[in-house]
Amino acid sequence: MRLRNVKGSRETIADNKYVVHDEESMKGKWSEFFGNTNPIHIEIGMGKGQFIMELARRNPDINYLGIEKYSSVLVRAIEKREQEEGMTNLYFIRMDAEYIENVFAENEVANIYLNFSDPWPKDRHAKRRLTSTHFFEHYDHILAPDGRVMFKTDNRPLFDFSLEQVPEAGWTLENYTYDLHHSEYNEGNIMTEYEAKFSALGTPINRLVAYRT
Ligand code: SAM
Repeated sequence: MRLRNVKGSRETIADNKYVVHDEESMKGKWSEFFGNTNPIHIEIGMGKGQFIMELARRNPDINYLGIEKYSSVLVRAIEKREQEEGMTNLYFIRMDAEYIENVFAENEVANIYLNFSDPWPKDRHAKRRLTSTHFFEHYDHILAPDGRVMFKTDNRPLFDFSLEQVPEAGWTLENYTYDLHHSEYNEGNIMTEYEAKFSALGTPINRLVAYRT
């Protein structure tokens, strides 16, 4: 979802108070940053931020960090965030999740959300998929022992790949569905921008939840 040429997006982000600019220096210190010891949940590839904003509204006792690689997309999340001045539990980081271990210490993250992650369909790019064993190794280093990775996608080949990668990475599937919106797991579901778009077209939404064995 790369929006090209959003004029001034880098400048907007550079001095925005909802974006953490020195994220690597926060490693192991996120509780100090938030000023409390509430659990920290992250969304990797949050896009325009609809999902994590709603999570943060519903759960004031959880701290949220939205991670997004592209400034041109992150500015859209910032625009939404600026409408919620009183919210103290949601901040953003502009970074490539490949370097996530530089930002979070062991066990520092309680849950990881991955929503409609880029599919990287070519085999030679499989390592870039956020549900590859390569990324599960990163998650292994930052996720608390009882933490969960929760992944939603419209993309069936990516989902099938992910279902295979979970056990290969030494993780366990807690549950999964090929049709979230018509499943027992749909209660309390918060739709992302992509989810709303694809489900309006009638595309079923796949979801899995995984934990470390
Ligand atoms: N999660 C949103 C949704 O469901 O509406 C956006 C989905 S969009 C297809 C995927 C997003 O993940 C894009 O905004 C992309 O820039 C971001 N992304 C992809 N790979 C990433 C990475 N390695 N680190 C951080 N963000 C990434």
